[in-house]
Amino acid sequence: MKITEILKNKEKTISFEVFPPKTTEGYEGIFQKAKEIAALGPDFMSVTYGAGGGTSAFTAGLSHDLMAESGVPVIAHLTCVSSTKETVRETIEVYREKGIKNIMALRGDIPEGGAVPHEYAHASELVRELKENGDFCIGGACYPEGHVESENKKEDLKHLKEKVDAGADFLTTQMFFDNGVFYNFLYRAREAGITVPILPGIMPVTTKKQLGRSVAMSGTMVPPRFSAIVDCFGDDPKAMEQAGIVYAADQIIDLFANDVTHVHVYSMNKPEVAFGILNILRGIL
Ligand code: FAD
Repeated sequence: MKITEILKNKEKTISFEVFPPKTTEGYEGIFQKAKEIAALGPDFMSVTYGAGGGTSAFTAGLSHDLMAESGVPVIAHLTCVSSTKETVRETIEVYREKGIKNIMALRGDIPEGGAVPHEYAHASELVRELKENGDFCIGGACYPEGHVESENKKEDLKHLKEKVDAGADFLTTQMFFDNGVFYNFLYRAREAGITVPILPGIMPVTTKKQLGRSVAMSGTMVPPRFSAIVDCFGDDPKAMEQAGIVYAADQIIDLFANDVTHVHVYSMNKPEVAFGILNILRGIL
């Protein structure tokens, strides 16, 4: 089923993200984790894509196997900057053969040294190509605090509108820890004429290390309330896991309370985290 249909037909949705293994040996373990998350009954799941080689080889297979065994709709990610047009076309063919109807079209991060084929500059080019090559439901990424490479938020929003005009059917945000940042972005996106659904991406931070890594990569602002939590519980793994789950669930409850009713969770192959969040939201969903 297409993600846009799910978003249209259901008042509230929760989706979870998993990432594929790096090696064939790692496949079974990650597939088990993904199935455990699927068994919790999310409205759909997403499977990420490595920017070049590595995990990218398993995205289509994991997406297909997850759909086949769990029945949960899946959106498979696809990046383009590290690939040639030929490789991307072949991958799209593989996705089609595997029955994948939903694709998150991404540029991908430019690898250090910048050695890329230069056949794609922006995700909007991939979106356009997907639109022309099949009946896919296409997602795109967006950045409430502005993409790290963009000069300013206005420019970033202008390019986001181009991506939507190229055919992105919905958008999912990068993580944020202050919902005010999302509400402000949503307002600006609507003002800029972006009318497609925008799903907030919520990252439950369950270890201190995870926060450092994620913030370094994305430049996401950590509000004092959350940094106090990490300062207090960061060295106690059980406490940090619980605090991270409660913080993420609290963000989701606030989003629902403000009529943002489709939420994506970066569950990072952790069924216990997905379960913890759904358990708190039990009465609300
Ligand atoms: P784009 O939309 O191309 O934007 C990248 C930058 O280019 C922005 O600064 C934008 O303003 C600018 N830009 C766009 N168009 C133009 C233009 N015409 N002229 C000038 N500048 C322009 N990475 C992975 O490797 N695998 C994944 O599975 C993955 N999943 C993700 C899922 C989500 C929801 C998000 C938010 C990110 C994900 N990423 C993933 C990370 C993503 O690949 C990086 O953030 C990457 O740096 C940008 O990708 P994009 O698709 O947003 O690029």
